[in-house]
Amino acid sequence: MKVCIACGMPMKETSDFAMGDAEKDYCVYCARPDGTMQSYEEKLDSMTNFIIRTQGLDEKAANATARDMLSRLPAWKAID
Ligand SMILES: [Zn+2]
Repeated sequence: MKVCIACGMPMKETSDFAMGDAEKDYCVYCARPDGTMQSYEEKLDSMTNFIIRTQGLDEKAANATARDMLSRLPAWKAID
């Protein structure tokens, strides 16, 4: 099974892949409407908001947590 290189989500169904294309290395949530992969900044932003919503952290703490999570993923290893 493939895992999204940008957010770590397991991709089981074709519909989980960007553009429904199982050859892609990233998921539908990490794709822009045109099918390209979101940038680090876009992903960091959405992940920060997700953490604020789900864990109730303040923005600074959520941002630090999101950076830490992203730094473990293959798509962003070279960044930071
Ligand atoms: Zn993803």
